[in-house]
Amino acid sequence: MAQVRERYDRLKRFTFADFSKLAAKRVAIVGVGGLGALAAEILARAGVGRLALFDYDTVEEANLNRLVYRTSQIGQPKVKALAAHLGDANPDAEVVSYPHDVTTGRGYVGLMGELDKCDLVLGCVDTFGVRLFLNGKCVAAKIPLIDGGASENGINGAVHVVIPGKTPCYRCNRPALKQEQVTTDRRDVTGVCAFTSLPTTMAIVASLQCQEAFKVLLKFGRVAPLLLYNGLDGTLERVDWKRDPKCPTCGRRKT
Ligand SMILES: [Zn+2]
Repeated sequence: MAQVRERYDRLKRFTFADFSKLAAKRVAIVGVGGLGALAAEILARAGVGRLALFDYDTVEEANLNRLVYRTSQIGQPKVKALAAHLGDANPDAEVVSYPHDVTTGRGYVGLMGELDKCDLVLGCVDTFGVRLFLNGKCVAAKIPLIDGGASENGINGAVHVVIPGKTPCYRCNRPALKQEQVTTDRRDVTGVCAFTSLPTTMAIVASLQCQEAFKVLLKFGRVAPLLLYNGLDGTLERVDWKRDPKCPTCGRRKT
């Protein structure tokens, strides 16, 4: 009969880091759609001790072409459906659910509370405005943020690793950022996401986020400040971009 501790046997054989240290780590995941749900599953199965999930959406049929959610979960809050799934995937993981918007009310209060005690935030959101919001809060709290996103045409992806005080933040070197870009939403007036989404691209970006998360949490390898995935060419590019000393969010000369 297999012992339950053998759950982590293959991870124990990894020579670059001690995965058993994940049990003491806390990660907040903001957005549990195509990226966040899969990232949460990877982190939970790998043994991260505590996951805090934020998302105000419910499971819809249109979500089911991507991974994790099931037909029987249509109509349930995503964080609740995911928490139930993770509880079965790995009962070792403590999962806390916030079915709220992180930018306001109970979601905001919940996020601030999690930033006080978490080791890392995964940003898995689909709006630029929430990305900048999370970036600002994580830089202020000095908590690493790993933001993931896919292009509107569904085939490309990007992962930003923001280690406050070390790597560029999401706002760095974007002097031309216009307010209309900040408020651009990927959803139409009915609340439906207006762009395509491929399960493959989402899984690749979520996996890249988790790989960088393991490197940050367990301190191995060389963290990539920016990774650009091009699905048409099949390339992955590491970009060592520099911090902007005049960045309004993380710069030394910020006003
Ligand atoms: Zn910055």
